[in-house]
Amino acid sequence: MKLDNMFKKTRLPRRKGVGFADTSADTAKPEIPEGLLRKCNMCKAAIMTEDVEAGGYICPKCGGYFRVHAYRRIEMITDENTFEEWDRGLATKNPLKFKGYEEKLNALQEKTGLDEAVVTGKAKIGGVETVLGVCDGRFLMASMGEVVGEKIAKAVERATEQRLPVIFFTCSGGARMQEGIVSLMQMAKTSAALKRHSDAGLLYITVLTDPTTGGVTASFAMLGDVILAEPKALIGFAGPRVIGQTIGQKLPAGFQRSEFLLEHGFIDGIVERFQVKETLSLLLKLHADHPMESGTAGKPMVVSREWRDTKTVSAWERVLASRKKDRPVGKDYIDLLFTDFTELHGDRYFADDKAVIGGIARFHGMPVTVLAQEKGRDTKENIQRNFGMPSPDGYRKSLRLMKQAEKFHRPVICFVDTPGAFCGIEAEERGQAEAIARNIYEMSALKVPVLSIVIGEGGSGGALAMATADEVWMLENSVYSILSPEGFASILWKDSAKAQEAAEVMKLTAADLYEQGIVEQVLPEPPDYTVQNMKEVTDLLEKRIEGFLEQYVNIDTEALTQRRYERFRKM
Ligand SMILES: [Zn+2]
Repeated sequence: MKLDNMFKKTRLPRRKGVGFADTSADTAKPEIPEGLLRKCNMCKAAIMTEDVEAGGYICPKCGGYFRVHAYRRIEMITDENTFEEWDRGLATKNPLKFKGYEEKLNALQEKTGLDEAVVTGKAKIGGVETVLGVCDGRFLMASMGEVVGEKIAKAVERATEQRLPVIFFTCSGGARMQEGIVSLMQMAKTSAALKRHSDAGLLYITVLTDPTTGGVTASFAMLGDVILAEPKALIGFAGPRVIGQTIGQKLPAGFQRSEFLLEHGFIDGIVERFQVKETLSLLLKLHADHPMESGTAGKPMVVSREWRDTKTVSAWERVLASRKKDRPVGKDYIDLLFTDFTELHGDRYFADDKAVIGGIARFHGMPVTVLAQEKGRDTKENIQRNFGMPSPDGYRKSLRLMKQAEKFHRPVICFVDTPGAFCGIEAEERGQAEAIARNIYEMSALKVPVLSIVIGEGGSGGALAMATADEVWMLENSVYSILSPEGFASILWKDSAKAQEAAEVMKLTAADLYEQGIVEQVLPEPPDYTVQNMKEVTDLLEKRIEGFLEQYVNIDTEALTQRRYERFRKM
């Protein structure tokens, strides 16, 4: 299943025929025993407790999310009877000898049946074993005291020992004031345990639920390889009330909600509650096989070097073909060549740049990381995706996903299609050049195979930042150059109208670049190439990618990076 579908914000089907919607209008209200009704704190409607429970703790009237108790959450997302709880009953100390603290804890334990604000253990999700931790907001707003930190650190350490993934559902007010500095230290303790888990090459996923704030957000919540969030959850460091009071300004609508974090590049996706289990299960499965060992079946690569005679089509005609409005775009290739594509979002610094699509997918069953510079399919999408001109955030997102691929031994496949990196004030402010440089630098030594395919325009450094690869291929009518012909003509001849002439001297066609040894393969295109006849190209591309992976996944890391080094060294 595509995560496109998973992340899409569908509403839980409303329960029809329950009938309680009309009862408020009745003058003679029926007698309802205590506990059968709950009031939604968002739409204020009275709703039946059993409907809330059966509907995944989602208000059947407004779709608002109720907070879920830890054990209920575990029931909702794990395979039946697979949860084994760990470390229950660790004694809470009272480091500040805070008056009434112990009594408060005892009362909460009695009332909630929890021993502390987090439940940890091991379970199966979709048949894959994982370590799991779930915070429970009923217990001092799931603030992180020593026991919470200890349970989390222990769970992560055991996951590292047993080589298991970790999933944490967060919700927290932050540090636990009653424990003072000891509480603060839990941020370091949990993060340090997670660093070791990550260094062991293991997967960590967080699911942020309402509210996740303070020291929990600033430690284990934000460290996931993949960070998901429930819709509209409040997620931040300082709470909105504190910020509002401190700066004396009205905060923007939706401030610190999941949607705000997605837009600002801090989370990979928003998942509806009833899709959380399926999403986690897919992500666990995509990380369960060691990609470079699973291999693909197929024959060694036989490269055909046949494409239409370059003499009959001028370079300028190819430039125009590469820019044609109905030419297939990045997402079209992703849809046709891969399965289980799971889009991940954000650079974790500033934004989610829509000019770059990235995520995990399978190619012939093998997990791979896919990145595509994306122009969009129609005018509306062109604008949304900035005509395929990435901002620094787009390069940083792609680098984040490439480093993730390296951690999990996944080959990287990039589709290059950009007129160039975005040229604008904001892009410069955020370090466009630094972002491009960093990508080239890191890609040159990435410890997994990297294949880049120029499918349209390969514009300058903006293209190279996703094409510092083991092999670079081009479609017959794609172009790859130092600059656009218009720019070239304008710089060298002070006349951008001479673009056509420039195209002829720039040696920017696939055939030219193949002759110069800049690219390894050129793939033929049908005349009038569109999505309609795209399969002609992707069928061949599929065979070639299979051949590439066959050839590259078994090369040891050192030989692989040495080979890439030499590829560029000789240019
Ligand atoms: Zn409601």
